[in-house]
Amino acid sequence: MAGEPQSDCLFCKIVAGDVPATIVRETETTLAFRDINPQAPTHVLVIPRLHYPDAASLATAAPTVAADILREAGEVAAQEKVDGSGFRVVFNTGAGAGQTVFHAHAHVLGGRGLNWPPG
Ligand code: C5P
Repeated sequence: MAGEPQSDCLFCKIVAGDVPATIVRETETTLAFRDINPQAPTHVLVIPRLHYPDAASLATAAPTVAADILREAGEVAAQEKVDGSGFRVVFNTGAGAGQTVFHAHAHVLGGRGLNWPPG
C-alpha cells in the first residue's frame, strides 16, 4: 500500500538503514543521499521516507511531502553550492522514462553544463 514500507524496495532499505548510503540531508519526511552512479559532480537523490512508487503518486497521496522534496532539492543545491550556476531536478517516471527504482525520488544534478533536451 502507498506509504507503507516495502520489503523488496531498495530505497525503503536505505531509509531503514539496512543498505548504506552517503546521506547529505535529512528531514522528518525526506532523506537526501549521493547517487551511487553520479552523472554530474553533484548528483543527489531526494526521497520521501515513506514509500510511493513515483513522483506522481506521491504528489496525489501526500502533496505536502511532494513539496518537501522540492524544497529539499533546493536546499541540497544550495548546500552543494550549485544553486548559483544552475541545477536540474528530474523525476524519471515509468520504466520508459528511465525509472529503475520504484520509490519516488528527485535527482538533483549540477556542477556541470546540462544540455536540453535530455536524452
Ligand atoms: O531514476 P532512476 O529510478 O533510474 O534512478 C535510480 C537511481 O538510484 C540511479 O541513478 C542509481 O544510480 C541510484 N542508486 C543509488 N544507490 C543504490 C542503487 C541505485 O544511488 N544503492
